[in-house]
Amino acid sequence: MEKLIIFSAPSGSGKTTVVKHLLSVMKSKLAFSVSATTRSPRPGELDGREYHFLELDDFRKKIKAGEFLEHEEVYAGILYGTLMSEVRKIWSESKAVVFDVDVKGGLNLKRQFGNQALAVFLRPPSIDILMERLTKRSTEVEHQLQERIAKANYELSFENQYDTVVVNDKLEETFATCEKLVSDFLTNP
Ligand code: ADP
Ligand code: 5GP
Repeated sequence: MEKLIIFSAPSGSGKTTVVKHLLSVMKSKLAFSVSATTRSPRPGELDGREYHFLELDDFRKKIKAGEFLEHEEVYAGILYGTLMSEVRKIWSESKAVVFDVDVKGGLNLKRQFGNQALAVFLRPPSIDILMERLTKRSTEVEHQLQERIAKANYELSFENQYDTVVVNDKLEETFATCEKLVSDFLTNP
């Protein structure tokens, strides 16, 4: 069966860290769905690797052409979306697709794919710890940081709509829990 594994959580919860780990230990079974976004690349990010970085006009054209499985304005004026072409390409390699998407995008994919999809909500141990991690990551300017923190409480209210919730406290434990969740899901038909 063609499968999808969705990781959603407020920004700073650890999705990128966990997804990168899973991709490195389960290389032959998983591949990352590279989303499109209109935000600018961060230092070290490469077009086509972390995201397909698009101008707003190009993003809108792709919406019109029906190229997205889902898309959201995750932050004011910044669009993110899952390209159908990414998912098809990964399935054609007989791998499961891994997503790092916001909470609404995650639930949208889950609704579309039902039992083909495992939807994991990654939760920080507390809002204070989330703020600390986001601040330390130092990738956002102050107003963006505030926007992300303000949105976190709203996003946390979606956790019970996910198949499973993992609290990302000790990273090694989170890795082990997620590895088991994913391999169980891939093993069961
Ligand atoms: P997201 O992709 O959800 O926005 P990241 O994976 O970028 O989150 O994690 C945010 C920051 O928190 C990063 O600097 C990361 O190294 C750190 N981090 C992630 N998980 C943990 C953890 N369990 N303990 C401490 N720091 C963590
Ligand atoms: P960042 O700017 O930190 O890379 O990502 C911001 C948010 O956008 C994160 O919550 C991330 O999961 C989400 N995101 C990334 N790609 C997609 C996508 O294709 N669709 C949706 N709905 N959200 C996405």
